Amino acid sequence: MYSTNFCDNICRRKIYCYFYKKLYNSELLNLNLFCISVRDKRVVVLTGAGVSAESGVKTFRGNDGLWENHSLDDVATPDAWIRDPQLVWDFYQARRNQLTQVEPNPAHLALGLLQSEIPDFTLITQNVDDLHERGGSSSVLHMHGELRTLRCEVTGETELRMTDSDLSQNFVNCNCCETPTKMRPDIVWFGEIPMFMQKIYQMVENCDIFIVIGSSGHVYPAAGLVGVASTYGAHTILVNYDLPVNADMFDEVHTGKAGELLPKLVTEWLD
Ligand code: NAD
Repeated sequence: MYSTNFCDNICRRKIYCYFYKKLYNSELLNLNLFCISVRDKRVVVLTGAGVSAESGVKTFRGNDGLWENHSLDDVATPDAWIRDPQLVWDFYQARRNQLTQVEPNPAHLALGLLQSEIPDFTLITQNVDDLHERGGSSSVLHMHGELRTLRCEVTGETELRMTDSDLSQNFVNCNCCETPTKMRPDIVWFGEIPMFMQKIYQMVENCDIFIVIGSSGHVYPAAGLVGVASTYGAHTILVNYDLPVNADMFDEVHTGKAGELLPKLVTEWLD
């Protein structure tokens, strides 16, 4: 439940932001205008590929619309899987193998700490890697699926499949069907519906603070969540290397590397 004071505060902040922008015709760049403590608030964090960039996992937008030198149409659509399953399989097996070689960075660790200090905390990620979990976060909502798991195409059941034989070039069969069938990556491809959307909208509509980290604002519905949070009165914060297309939708913007900014911001927020 919102406290009246908190709502008043949010309204004042938004009005102040509006006039500040008008007056100075300025984006709120690197200005931590609001000294807020997040400890007692309902906090929702949404992360994108940028949060894993400093771990050595390439982003998508950083490569001129290519993901690890592949066009998304070739490797990240249901049509691609039908057209050339071996190409798609090889692409995701390479991403799955990469998980065994990368480590969480200070941004993942800072978010693990933030979660441990805030009773009402939700972490939504567009990322398919497992670096949040390994950085200390739990109950992560992977809206675009996960690399660690594979999905049976017949039953839709998922299995954690990360043994050496699961990570080879060969297709992997499920354990759930009488006649084991080929599994697909447990990834939400372009044109498919992201996971947990009902819960995600519920959490975003009811949060006090909505923080987006390392996301280009190009991929919907994730990119639209800041609009939802804002409409429902949340204070919205962005931490991103550069200004994404939806930057002006945020109340507060911090530009720079997440691994450098987040440990400091989390300390401030928890003060
Ligand atoms: P994106 O690649 O479109 O955008 C990444 C954003 O992060 C950019 O705005 C970039 O400037 C910013 N960024 C880069 N390095 C950063 C850093 N060190 N600190 C802070 N910000 C940094 O990513 P998206 O918005 O998440 O959308 C891409 C889609 O591709 C998603 O659906 C995602 O599932 C998928 N993807 C996932 C991974 C992963 O799981 N790690 C990697 C690549 C792509």
